[in-house]
Amino acid sequence: MRTFDYKFIDIHVHITPWDAVKPEIAAAVKATQADPARLDEFTTDPHKLVAYMDEHNIEWLGLINYLSPDVIGYTEEINNFTARFAAAYPNRFIPFGGIDPRRTPRVAEQMDHLLGELGLKAIKLHPPHQLFNVNDYLFNKELAGLTVVYEKCIEYGASLMVHTGTSVFKGARNRFADPLPIDDVAVDFPDLKIIAAHAGRPMYTETAFFLLRRHPNVYFDISSTPPKSLPQYYPWLERVADKAMFGSDWPAPGVKDIYDNIQQFLALNLSDEDKRKILRENAVKVFNLFG
Ligand SMILES: [Zn+2]
Repeated sequence: MRTFDYKFIDIHVHITPWDAVKPEIAAAVKATQADPARLDEFTTDPHKLVAYMDEHNIEWLGLINYLSPDVIGYTEEINNFTARFAAAYPNRFIPFGGIDPRRTPRVAEQMDHLLGELGLKAIKLHPPHQLFNVNDYLFNKELAGLTVVYEKCIEYGASLMVHTGTSVFKGARNRFADPLPIDDVAVDFPDLKIIAAHAGRPMYTETAFFLLRRHPNVYFDISSTPPKSLPQYYPWLERVADKAMFGSDWPAPGVKDIYDNIQQFLALNLSDEDKRKILRENAVKVFNLFG
């Protein structure tokens, strides 16, 4: 095995209690895992997950969770789970939480709870699973509280991740898959760090590229595309290598192993410098990991 003088960061994994999601979704996830018992171990025991990370030169993982009571099954309880899990290793996990202003009468207090008391480092919004657009504060009174979500993220130095691109889970609605609404958020909240997860794959990658070039604080992760297909999906990847972060999306259906994806990424025809930025340095900066 080649040795590296830096450690890897995967900003996008789904560490979730599988009884918190709808049974058919848990079944779909487990169906493509070679070792479903290992999946259960890694998602219930932070020590086992960290042992795996140590073995594979992975320093940090971004633990992605969000609210989606109707489509996926995630309720506010998922934020407590993520905070508890991450608290076992605060120097190895970047915990992401979720919010829906329609379910939370006092958005500011809830954001203080999530980013203050629970210590979450980022908020994830998933438009096709939450059934709103991130710029709906402009159009829908019920979602006016999104502005408070963004202001609180800035106040706490937390990032906002937005799922972009289609989702094929049952109940997902893909009219919310287009990344373009991020443009309004980046215009109205220029200090907010926004991560366009998946960069709009597969239908909206040109839009994502436009947003990345237009807005200094818009970043993306390359998760949920098989690494060998990255040049095909993102032919412009090298032009925005300063804004790209590695994500495996493990254990989403079809993603067998985190380190396997890292190795596939390392085999790509990119410069060592770009690989290092994408596998580590950009995430260190965006999440201020050693601040
Ligand atoms: Zn994901």
